[in-house]
Amino acid sequence: MGSFPQAARELPELATLYEVLETFGDRAEPHVLATVAHAGVEFPIVAAVVGAARADAPTLALFGGVHGLERIGTRVVLAAMHTLAQFLTWDHVLDATLSEVRLLFVPLINPVGMWLRRRSNARGVDLMRNAAPYPEAAATPLVGGQRLSPHLPWFQGERGAMEVEARALCEATREWVLPARRAVALDVHSGFGTVDRLWFPYAHTRRPFPSVAEAYAMSCLLDDTLPNHVYVMEPVSRNYTVQGDLWDRIYDEYTGGRAFLPLTLELGSWLWVKKNPRQLFDVLGGFNPIRPHRLRRTLRRHLPLIEFLLRAVASERAWSGFDAHERQRLESAAFAKWFA
Ligand SMILES: [Zn+2]
Repeated sequence: MGSFPQAARELPELATLYEVLETFGDRAEPHVLATVAHAGVEFPIVAAVVGAARADAPTLALFGGVHGLERIGTRVVLAAMHTLAQFLTWDHVLDATLSEVRLLFVPLINPVGMWLRRRSNARGVDLMRNAAPYPEAAATPLVGGQRLSPHLPWFQGERGAMEVEARALCEATREWVLPARRAVALDVHSGFGTVDRLWFPYAHTRRPFPSVAEAYAMSCLLDDTLPNHVYVMEPVSRNYTVQGDLWDRIYDEYTGGRAFLPLTLELGSWLWVKKNPRQLFDVLGGFNPIRPHRLRRTLRRHLPLIEFLLRAVASERAWSGFDAHERQRLESAAFAKWFA
């Protein structure tokens, strides 16, 4: 670990990230998006870009650690990075795929929050409530974002000011995701409910977002391809509405047509608590699998999804590029399933 920054000695997830980058070697291009200084330590927010260099190359982007308590999200992304880095040492098929497809990884967006064992960043801001609000939005009280106090959860931050971590996430998507002609982003969180959910926009309104046909096609493709998968796919707004969700704003910035799906993988952590109630006495216990076998199970559980998304991003026909007639059919089916 001699060449790793000091922050990697403070935070095991950062140490793992640098180890995985070593495995990728020159196949990954690392970028420090920003650094956040806290308690005399400089914590880097690291992105890694792998594969096709063309700006418009189809892109799969994996994000984690927006909420510092949800360490498992970062670990799921790191586990995927590890497996992909190992594949790249011998697998010709992945090698060929990555001549056309780009991977972006930002596994730890809020390192200081993780170090402090809190959901927010050091300034008490919930980064997933920190984007510019939509004037017409009606957010669920409290959980949907509040400006009362940084000492309460879901604090949106100062009006008009974006936190450095939120800016880093947005800038990474502007650089490597929004120029892509097809893209899927998967932002891994934990803490809601007992099943693993795949959420798509919008979060600020119950109204369908413009890519609802693509979301519906992706959901059918997932059901057909991995019929025993564990996910409930649905709009975020079926559960609550949120002011300041970064993915709503990032989605609205995309101009490359409709083939961009920013997905949030919300791991159902209540199941881990139900099976091991004692872990509620640990601040991390409400959001992470604590027992080793359950952690291992979680880390392997989502690899098929990530491989599926990589193949879906590489393949246009399956979930995008519809003519008007097909789009209408998919939108009607989507309305009936999610918005009726
Ligand atoms: Zn979260």
